[in-house]
Formats: sequence, structure tokens, C-alpha cells
Amino acid sequence: MALIVQKFGGTSVASVERIKSVAKKIKTFKDAGDQVVVSVSAMSGETNRMTDLAHQIQDKPSLREMDVLLTTGEQVTISLLSMALQQLGCDAISYTGSQVRITTDSEHGKARIKSIDSELIVKSLNEEKVVVIAGFQGVDEGGHITTLGRGGSDTTAVALAAALNADECQIYTDVDGVYTADPRIEPNARKMNNISYEEMLEMASLGSKVLQIRSVEFASKYNVSLRVLSSMIENPIGTLITSEEKIMEEAVISGIAHNKDEAKVSLIGVPDIPGVAYKILKPISDNNIEVDMILQSVSSKEGLANFAFTVHRNDFEESKEILEKVRSDLGALKVQSDDKIVKVSLVGIGMRSHAGIATKMFEVLHKENVNIQMISTSEIKISVAIDEKYLELAVRSLHSAFDLDKE
Ligand code: ASP
Ligand code: MG
Repeated sequence: MALIVQKFGGTSVASVERIKSVAKKIKTFKDAGDQVVVSVSAMSGETNRMTDLAHQIQDKPSLREMDVLLTTGEQVTISLLSMALQQLGCDAISYTGSQVRITTDSEHGKARIKSIDSELIVKSLNEEKVVVIAGFQGVDEGGHITTLGRGGSDTTAVALAAALNADECQIYTDVDGVYTADPRIEPNARKMNNISYEEMLEMASLGSKVLQIRSVEFASKYNVSLRVLSSMIENPIGTLITSEEKIMEEAVISGIAHNKDEAKVSLIGVPDIPGVAYKILKPISDNNIEVDMILQSVSSKEGLANFAFTVHRNDFEESKEILEKVRSDLGALKVQSDDKIVKVSLVGIGMRSHAGIATKMFEVLHKENVNIQMISTSEIKISVAIDEKYLELAVRSLHSAFDLDKE
């Protein structure tokens, strides 16, 4: 007997039929003797539909009212799922976030969970019930309803697993796990059986949008074994995301992530003197723009250098405007920009103990004649920015060069 937390995303509960089949799946665990706590998303499309409704009334509706609105989506699915379970003869009870006191801070729209009162949940489990809890929502100290940010029900599930000390947190979704690369780009991509929290964080933040990043951070912090698996197939194994120590066979490289959301802006011919990086990036961060990769060239014999960085494509226009202003303040030559780039990254904890990975990556790209525009590294990741037209070529050639297509 185990205590399992299961989360079903929007596509898994998109219709009454799907909800019934989710109920059947949950019942098999219950029948096997497990205790089951379930967290669900709203039916797919619902959160967007409600957001649209709000925007038909106000351009900028208050975040508090948005949270009151959006949390209704999950209230629909918890009640329907409980009914579906009861209909199968499986006792179930639904609770909203505030009923089980998923207490958060007061940052409407992106609140963070502070604590969960497990008393009511444990009581219902002891009464042999499946406990169905609304994902994505909480309540602040003042009793105001909050939400955890888009995709937040993943985090609800992990937080529940941590609070209840569950044996496993299973995230059921429309993919059957985490892949070595995006299968739409690399058809030979393989599903991984396991991956460490740290690698998953890199993969997730680099654009493998399987899980909300915060849920992986949470799982890592509280050591929750997290499994991503498909709700559409029978007896799925999925991918287990767990601590490094629990992973027996480590590949040097676990996967290749890519990110198409970045754009590059550069300031050409800036004087190479102290304070320049600060003066360029200060107004950028003052405007709440996040910078990812940064590159400064060595200075020319005239004492001028080039300074380039990447930002989210949504911040591209604003960044260019800010740089134009910085250019005249600093007396730099010109601003250059390029939103036709992608970032491709190799991720693997094995990198820590293996030399030459970067060299091999650059060799592969050189052989394919792909020009590298920027490079950044961390202990377990090497990223390059390249022209977006080389995305497929780069991902596929790296995937095969690092043997990711082989077991
Ligand atoms: N319903 C919310 C959303 O669409 C939360 C979730 O699905 O995780 O973002
Ligand atoms: Mg989701």
C-alpha cells in the first residue's frame, strides 16, 4: 500500500468522457489498496476562455478578481471527477484550495505556497475516500483566493505530496514522459526513464514545457519523487524525476533542450571602461526585463568593445528602445538586433566529471557549418545561440553525435 498523489492536466479532463476514464484509472489504484489524493486542472481551454471574458470587460482587470474567476475552472473539474468516482462505487470527496488551507502569499496571479493543512485530507483518506483537490489555487492569510501562475496545478500536486509525505507524485499529461529532445524536431528522440531534478530544471527552463518549473523546484527541495506519465495509455511508466543519488545509470548527456523565445540585442563600439556592463544592463533590469546570455568582446585597438545579450522575444522591442538611449549616453557606435536566433543546449550531470564535452559540441556544429553566435555554460549545461534556420540541423546532429538515440 502506498500513498500516491496524482495530477491530471487540462487535456486529461477535457470532456465528460475523459473525466470518466480518469476516474477509472484512479479506481484501479484504490482497488489495489493505495491511498490516493488527486489534484486536477481546469478542463483544457477553460482558463483561457475565462481570461478572454475578463478582457472583454477590462484591459487590465484586477489580479484579485482574476484569481476569483480563474479558480472556478478547477472547482468544476474536482466536483465532476468526484461524481465520476462515486458513480463507479469509489468513495470520493472534493475540496477547493481554501478548504484544505493551501496557504499562499498574497501575490495574486503568481502566489507561492507557504503551507498546507493536511488534517482534513488525512481524515478523508482514513475514511477510505479518494480526495480530489483543486489545483492551481490557494488562499492568503487574509482569506483572499490566490492562484499559483499558469500551469500551477503541477505545483499543487507536488506540494500536496510533500505535505502528506507521499510515496510518489504522478503527473498525468498528454505526453508519456520527458524526451532526450523535442520529438517534433528530432524523430529519434527517446523517452528517458529517469532524470535528476537538476537536469529537469535545466530542461524545463530551456523550453521542454512538460512541467511547471516551480513544481520541479518544489520537488527537489522536499525530495518528492515525481513521475511524468501519459493519461492516454494503459500502465504507463513515464519518466521519474528524482534525486541524483537514486539514478543508477548516468549518461554524460541526458538531453538537448532548445528555446525559440529569445532574441539578441547588441551595442557595437562601446568604450571598454569600468561600469559599461552596469550602465547597459541597469535600465534593462529596471524595466523588469530578464537577461539570459551575455557576451562582451575583447576591445579593439581603439579601445572599443561590443556588448550583446539575449532577452525574451516579448521584450525585444522595448530592449531595443532602451539600448538606443544607452547608446547615445555612452557614445557607442550603433545598436544591432536579431530576433531570428534560437538557443540550443546540452544538459547532463555527467558533464561535471567529463572534459571535452563543449569541444565536441563545437566540433559537431562546425562540421555542419553552423555558426555559433553566443555561448554560455553552467556546471551541467552548455548553451549556444545560433541562427534559427539551423535549429533542426543542430539538434539532430548533436543528438546523434552524443548517442542520445541509443539506449
Ligand atoms: N488551469 C490552470 C492553467 O491553465 C492551471 C493548470 O492547468 O495547471 O494554467
Ligand atoms: Mg498544465
